[in-house]
Amino acid sequence: MSRPVSYNLIQKPLEKDISVAPLPDGHQGEGFFATSLDSVIGLARKNSIWPLPFATSCCGIEFMATMGSHYDLARFGSERVGFSPRQCDLLMVMGTIAKKMGPVVRQVYLQMAEPRWVIAVGACASSGGIFDTYSVLQGIDQVVPVDVYVPGCPPRPEAIIDGVLRIQDLVGKESLRRRNSEHYKALLNSYGIQ
Ligand code: SF4
Repeated sequence: MSRPVSYNLIQKPLEKDISVAPLPDGHQGEGFFATSLDSVIGLARKNSIWPLPFATSCCGIEFMATMGSHYDLARFGSERVGFSPRQCDLLMVMGTIAKKMGPVVRQVYLQMAEPRWVIAVGACASSGGIFDTYSVLQGIDQVVPVDVYVPGCPPRPEAIIDGVLRIQDLVGKESLRRRNSEHYKALLNSYGIQ
């Protein structure tokens, strides 16, 4: 049986492997391009997301594969995985979160600077998964707001990458005013976060 991973035996010219981020919506003409500040900042942010992997069990192993050379999350500008909340803007929670760990997830979220986003990777982080028990948090959205849920037990690396792409869509289109809006403040208030 052949291995699932195939290698590039034929070297391709490097320039064919380099792609440029598409331009945001705007107006262009001879020697100029005009767009909104939101779009430019969104373009920069979405292609330089720094993830913080909060991995507690099996889903974390799939994330390790996602970071490996075959799936290569670095292609999306997210190769700089950090373990300091103050340097990261994407919290990726992967694995079963016991109720005792809930305050820890929340503390990590609170230590991240705005703007920050959250992905719940896998059934356990999204809903408690198969662990419908007294000791397991039935979804991290009970302690922090979640932007994207990735289904699966465990999700394959392709699904994790899809979750990151959905986050990129949100980040790229987010208004600079969203974090100061009443709607966002009400969302944080509903979690007891001022
Ligand atoms: S969703 Fe499945 S694979 Fe992921 S941590 Fe829970 S039990 Fe493990």
